[in-house]
Amino acid sequence: MATIGEALAAAQSQIDRQDAQYLLANLTGSSRAFLLAHSERDLSGQQAAQFAKHVAARATGVPVAQILGSREFYGRNFAVNEHVLIPRPETEILVEQALVRFSGNKWLKIAVLPCVLDLGTGSGAIAVTLALELPDAKVTALDQSLDALRIAEQNAHTLGASVTFIVSDWYRALTDKKFDLIVANPPYIAAHDPHLSQGDLRFEPHMALTDDSVDGLASIRCIITGAKALLHDGGWLMFEHGFDQAERCRALLAQNGFAAIASVSDLSGIPRVTIGQHLPLSSTTV
Ligand code: GLN
Repeated sequence: MATIGEALAAAQSQIDRQDAQYLLANLTGSSRAFLLAHSERDLSGQQAAQFAKHVAARATGVPVAQILGSREFYGRNFAVNEHVLIPRPETEILVEQALVRFSGNKWLKIAVLPCVLDLGTGSGAIAVTLALELPDAKVTALDQSLDALRIAEQNAHTLGASVTFIVSDWYRALTDKKFDLIVANPPYIAAHDPHLSQGDLRFEPHMALTDDSVDGLASIRCIITGAKALLHDGGWLMFEHGFDQAERCRALLAQNGFAAIASVSDLSGIPRVTIGQHLPLSSTTV
């Protein structure tokens, strides 16, 4: 029989220390602080065996979120598997920027029920969060992957969110419906970026990470050019992009007639989200 301390020591010779603590905390339903304070306690045989399996999986590179089958995003747990991108903290910027514009009285000039579209929803993290945080919004989410939509639907159901899911390659399957907000965390990693063959990314769906374009911007171009026809006047487009793509994204939005263009940085000061507003041609200000 192994104690918590012995199990962690054995794990740490194979995987990252924090990952080991996180995996064991999850397995035992306790906090990492509790584990460290009670290292002399015995694990059950079943817990020790399960932990050894998780550690072995992590040692082969499987992301912690895939081992546990979930990842927290904006304070809620989302189911994840190998068919969806693992939600990342920087993507919460998209949610925050949407909420700044669309919650409470900040809602200007637009219909009573804001219509939101999430492109390439993956696990549904953005769409489900927006549906829960903006209860008046009508949220539509699309993805070209049926496997991803299955997980997104499961997340919407578990978390009690009302979201309409559509199978679609970007805007292709959409009819004449218009939106007040279009959000996306599209694939944006350049085709030959070495990160694609490193770390967690090796285990995430290729098509969620890169569209195989040389500059990584093909999907973003398609999203920007298609958004104009689908946004109400005054509506917003906001999307995540790579650490060095903000300037090019702002230029693309400007070329396509968007106004109020701005990039928002993550906690390390890296611009990760760029935003533009669709205004009628005659108007110059919001
Ligand atoms: N943010 C991810 C990464 O760089 C990529 C996700 C994406 O392409 N949307 O690890």
